Amino acid sequence: MIVCKFGGSSLADEKQFRKVKAIIESDSRRTIAVVSAPGKRDSGDEKITDMLYQCNALAQKNQSCRPVFDKIASRYIGIAEALRLDVSRLTAALDEVRQNIDAGRGTDYAASRGEYLSGQLMAQYLGWQFIEPAECIVINSDGTVNPLSYERLANLISDGGHYVIPGFYGATEQGVIKTFSRGGSDISGAIAARAAKADLYENWTDVSGMYAADPRIVPDAKVIDEITYTQVRELSDVGASVFHEEAIAPVIDLQIPINIRNTNDPDAPGTVIKATSEKSGIIGVSAKGGYSKLKLRKLMMFKRPGMRHAMLTMLHLYGVRPSFSFFGIDSIVWYFESSQANDSVLTSMIDRLKKDFRLDYVYYERNHAMLGIVGGHLEDDTSFITACAALRDAGIKINNVNYGSSNATTLIGVNDCDAKRAVEVIYRALFS
Ligand code: ADP
Ligand code: ASP
Ligand code: MG
Repeated sequence: MIVCKFGGSSLADEKQFRKVKAIIESDSRRTIAVVSAPGKRDSGDEKITDMLYQCNALAQKNQSCRPVFDKIASRYIGIAEALRLDVSRLTAALDEVRQNIDAGRGTDYAASRGEYLSGQLMAQYLGWQFIEPAECIVINSDGTVNPLSYERLANLISDGGHYVIPGFYGATEQGVIKTFSRGGSDISGAIAARAAKADLYENWTDVSGMYAADPRIVPDAKVIDEITYTQVRELSDVGASVFHEEAIAPVIDLQIPINIRNTNDPDAPGTVIKATSEKSGIIGVSAKGGYSKLKLRKLMMFKRPGMRHAMLTMLHLYGVRPSFSFFGIDSIVWYFESSQANDSVLTSMIDRLKKDFRLDYVYYERNHAMLGIVGGHLEDDTSFITACAALRDAGIKINNVNYGSSNATTLIGVNDCDAKRAVEVIYRALFS
């Protein structure tokens, strides 16, 4: 059987709902559908999930969420009316959600309602059974999947059954609604695929697969026909946001293949993600901005066992969790997401680090990005040198390089303002 997950743009309006139904009905092996909240209908539009976060922010300020919620409600009602679904049932569900948000049920509850309502509508539209994720998908406090989820979900489904499961959320072990990080419906799809021991996990989106570079930056980038689990994780970790990097873990043990497909072009073969691939050479390039960089130095630092660990513990106390590390003999560079700490938090953290560890220097900088070149073989591949030369010729400054720690990826730190151009320059140098 096939688990198919449909992303936000695949469910943005009634036309998209119709396309989804046609895709599902064109293959009887598609028996579990995981759905996102309606996304943008065009570039000027708003995602339902973004509006739900706005509703919650209003409620936190003790203001009614109604002005924003009314826009959400009219989108769902528009879909239900066009598809001739039960509008009075939907209106009652919408009222309950709005009241709960106004009553302060919190961020995760509010954000999760986009998928909940989408799932309710899709289940009715297909005539399939609705599965409530809060009853089976268990999310740990750090946002990771609790393996209890697989067994609990497996207990709710049976061979021959047809199910709709809202993506993006589940509940803590204590039963409180919790969401994954943004884009997390991909993870829900992977959980469903694992629980159902699916033959295939289809991930339907608005592009015809994973491209060798973000198609918004390189419009003529080619589609990757085949990629490994490891490579896709590394590419999505540095910004190839078409597939959530945490959505590999649930399917990797059973080696369930994933196929990224386009709801708007269902005949396109898309990208297949699997354990191994015969393909060699460079697969793709991507960049992710929004990082800050912490740089510190202390003479003989690496002669002091435990110091790095102690410093990381201190960083965690300030909410800073580095994503990338670069080590020199007496120095460290840590990249972390800028949203993790504001300037006043970082200033106090730096004061503490300096004092407690007697550092020679420590400072931070905003506006950095990380570029990843995925694929290729380290032993005989010259693409790294070609990429660096192309960056130099384009006048793009390289701040840090990590070559060799991962067999799959070379990481290059650049300034945020150069990131998009760097992707394009490297794509042209390595793929054209
Ligand atoms: P969905 O709502 O279906 O989950 P997403 O918006 O999460 O869709 O992901 C699809 C988008 O990912 C594409 O529209 C594209 O803009 C973006 N994207 C970024 N990098 C890549 C890439 N390397 N290949 C394909 N799409 C990419
Ligand atoms: N709706 C959620 C988001 O916008 C989850 C998802 O689409 O995967 O992040
Ligand atoms: Mg997505």
